[in-house]
Amino acid sequence: MGENMSKRLRLISADSDMEERAFPNPYPDWDQGGLGLSPEADSDYGKEPLDAEGKISPRFQTKVQSKIKDLLQQMEEGLKTADPHDFSTYTGWTGIALLYLQLHRVSQEAAHLQRALDYVKRAMRTLNGRKVTFLCGDAGPLAVCAVVHHKLNNTADSQDCLSRLLQLQRSVVGPDAEMPDELLYGRAGYLYALLYVNKEIGANAVDDNFVKKKKKKNSPKMRLIYVVFSSSLYILWLPGSKVHPDLLSELVRPSIDYVRHKRFRSGNFPSSLSNESDRLVHWCHGAPGVIHMLLMAHKVFKEEKYLKEAAESAEVIWQRGLLRKGYGICHGTAGNAYSFMSLYHVTQEKKYLYRAYKFAEWCLDYGTHGCRIPDRPYSLFEGMAGTIYFLSEVERPEASCFPAFEL
Ligand SMILES: [Zn+2]
Repeated sequence: MGENMSKRLRLISADSDMEERAFPNPYPDWDQGGLGLSPEADSDYGKEPLDAEGKISPRFQTKVQSKIKDLLQQMEEGLKTADPHDFSTYTGWTGIALLYLQLHRVSQEAAHLQRALDYVKRAMRTLNGRKVTFLCGDAGPLAVCAVVHHKLNNTADSQDCLSRLLQLQRSVVGPDAEMPDELLYGRAGYLYALLYVNKEIGANAVDDNFVKKKKKKNSPKMRLIYVVFSSSLYILWLPGSKVHPDLLSELVRPSIDYVRHKRFRSGNFPSSLSNESDRLVHWCHGAPGVIHMLLMAHKVFKEEKYLKEAAESAEVIWQRGLLRKGYGICHGTAGNAYSFMSLYHVTQEKKYLYRAYKFAEWCLDYGTHGCRIPDRPYSLFEGMAGTIYFLSEVERPEASCFPAFEL
């Protein structure tokens, strides 16, 4: 077979592979000139979901609110058959508690806080001491439970959770501690729990020196999974983690540049070291995860190249981010939409807000596109709870915050 022919076949199969993973984006892109106004401004694809001033249109806001109610009902029904022993933030009860905390933050409704308490208590009954991270281990339920009790003014209960959270340190920094450094199963995931309670309860909830001790152990090393790796680098910069500037320049920055160097021409990133195919555009694998690291690098080092590459990542996410895997935040459309929200925070460009809202609009038709059903269809990271969480951000985009990841 001639070389040209095989090249062409490779391109065709790459195209069909992309189509297999994402829907073609049906929306017109942001039009610089007129707030997304196109000649058919009154059609569905007109200036919606932004109004003439570039704010969320009342009609869209109403649609989102009614969808949140509808999905919440479906989720509650579906959770009746969920795994009773999954306490995790990622796919279990703590994730649902975190959703209700968010709904309470947005609406101030006391009933949401009560629900958060009910769900996190359910999680607390099945802790198993096997993992220590916020997403998959005991640190998630303990931290969220401390925060819920704090909001309910149950000081003693909150303190009790905090001290149990701190006791986990032995397995994180003890002399025999053997664990990876990353977010899902390792030290970065424990560090996130500490930073989370400090943000939600107050800077002294966990002693500063204690956080520093965790960071020393958190030396960044090259890992196989880039996005998990880039998330770990990202966690080192979160407010309150106070990593020394020398460490940032000497260790963290070269690691970031290494990840950047592996970028595909499309602007996407490989899912692992050995993987050369430009296929996945997920928060967990690809540009939608790495973009947060790039934005943080831009904030810290004030260099345009990081922002430029983040903006290029956003192009790939816009084109290939409406995923057939579903509407969740880990490997779904809502998680990809958070990339636009974060870029909007940094640039204040309405283009990114518009794109985030268009992805939200896609999520309003939940379940009608023929997407795959995730294993845990109602959970925070794989399923419906994550989509509801994202939709609840739409009203106040400036305060949006990827759960269990951003702060
Ligand atoms: Zn995922």
